Amino acid sequence: MKLQRKTAVITGGSNGIGKATALLFAKEGANIVIGDLDEDAAADVVKAIEKEGVRASFIKTDVSQSDDCRAMIEHAEETFGNVQILFNNAGIMDVQDNSAEGTPEEVWARTMDINAKGVFLCCKFGIPALKRAGGGSVINTASFVSLMGAATSQVAYTASKGAVLSFTRELAVIHAREGIRVNALCPGPLKTDLLMKILDTDEKKNRRLVHIPMGRFGEAEEMAKAALFLASDDSSFVTGTNFMVDGGITAAYVTPEEM
Ligand code: NAD
Repeated sequence: MKLQRKTAVITGGSNGIGKATALLFAKEGANIVIGDLDEDAAADVVKAIEKEGVRASFIKTDVSQSDDCRAMIEHAEETFGNVQILFNNAGIMDVQDNSAEGTPEEVWARTMDINAKGVFLCCKFGIPALKRAGGGSVINTASFVSLMGAATSQVAYTASKGAVLSFTRELAVIHAREGIRVNALCPGPLKTDLLMKILDTDEKKNRRLVHIPMGRFGEAEEMAKAALFLASDDSSFVTGTNFMVDGGITAAYVTPEEM
């Protein structure tokens, strides 16, 4: 098992990528703390994890709130002793997020607060915990859109993920000699609620699919496997990366069907 005797704090762990990662990390022996707003879904994840013979705990957390993030890390240390893995993964994509002209100012602010400030706050309180544990791994969920313009415009989301990527790179440099690695996981388009709620017609789905060389949406479980690599000692010389797990979308100029 790759994560035995480790504790992982996973934000957004009630659903999608976070849930799949919580289940996989638990199979690999880690105790799990889920920080999320969705209590009902978290209860099912905690139940499933405890079947693996490891421990899991949920704490209601809004990652845009400083007090919540501080309390989440304190809860993790009080419950499990120490924290070695931070998966700062919670994020939103608002249906009203589109162009600069069309995106309401409050949508921009909320998206930035959750997606970008949320990652900052989890690192602000989480990195001292990793230091107390003697080192660890931070994984911040960015997106392929932090490197490319999206076919369906969503400027607040894209800008927030750009912030996550550049923030991650700089943190990696700051903490490189302290046994703390910091990487950005950059998923391509996935079949989770977050995207499927936005791409709610076949026409919208196809507009995105034509850009993916593999011709399909990714699965949350495929992100979990990448997160496991970044969390474990298998990636001991990997820090500061934009770790693309995207079906080839960022490599493509044309897709195979257009060649
Ligand atoms: P999801 O909607 O399935 O899950 C997101 C989770 O975050 C939910 O459990 C939700 O309750 C939680 N959450 C939302 N706001 C929160 C807040 N303020 N505080 C705490 N928790 C909160 O989404 P997902 O697809 O699993 O996305 C996870 C991450 O991956 C996000 O950061 C997202 O931007 C990123 N991502 C997703 C895709 C995709 O196509 N789905 C692609 C690239 C990046």
